[in-house]
Amino acid sequence: LIELRGVNKHYGTLHVLQSIDLTVGRGEVVVVIGPSGSGKSTLCRAMNRLETVESGEIVIDGQALPEEGKALARLRAEVGMVFQSFNLFAHKTVLANVSLAQIKVRKRKKEDADRRSRELLDRVGLAAHADKYPAQLSGGQQQRVAIARALAMDPKALLFDEPTSALDPEMINEVLEVMQQLAHEGMTMVVVTHEMGFARSAANRVVFMADGKIVEDRAPEDFFTAPRSDRAKDFLSKIL
Ligand code: ATP
Ligand code: MG
Repeated sequence: LIELRGVNKHYGTLHVLQSIDLTVGRGEVVVVIGPSGSGKSTLCRAMNRLETVESGEIVIDGQALPEEGKALARLRAEVGMVFQSFNLFAHKTVLANVSLAQIKVRKRKKEDADRRSRELLDRVGLAAHADKYPAQLSGGQQQRVAIARALAMDPKALLFDEPTSALDPEMINEVLEVMQQLAHEGMTMVVVTHEMGFARSAANRVVFMADGKIVEDRAPEDFFTAPRSDRAKDFLSKIL
């Protein structure tokens, strides 16, 4: 469903993505882990060209992702993103936050968008909070709104960049549970996270990055029990 072939990117002299090849199949959950600065966020953002790349191909559902224009906007809408900072509109209600892009991008009527939004808020356990403002919600609740908003576009895949890193510990699970459920329902997901429990239980593959390269790309049980590279062994010894 998502295919990167020979993707390269520099920031000045820093080669942040080095000949990245990565394929994410339909319904697959790929967890991306690695040390800080290894290029995980850049990789995630490159997947829908929120970040420009210098060379290589990005293919979404069989279609090469164009570099700009309407076709890019259309394909980009197929791949939703959830960030560490929830990026909700503070002056709009929860319902309006989830409905906005449906109306603007998907050209849905407001009543249809709102109906869909309420369904999705129910699904992430926030039906009772539709008319509140983001500041009235906890971090975990705000992140679940952000997930509902991404789902409202009916994306073919969802990218998560450290979705629980900004949350207090007691709120992490409520977000991971929603993600687990999505994984279970067959959503194609790429998840940058330090939550190894999630990686073990939800991921089909773990991609380990270091210094702009994919160093390992394996089933979670293999990766966690028998990492091959010294970089991965070192990383795991620090976090497990
Ligand atoms: P973290 O775990 O800390 O989020 P990461 O693996 O997501 O790290 P990236 O954010 O992708 O890492 O950054 C990879 C490298 O690129 C880092 O060394 C970072 O300093 C550098 N970098 C990221 N964005 C920029 C930018 N806009 N300009 C210059 N350098 C950047
Ligand atoms: Mg990052």
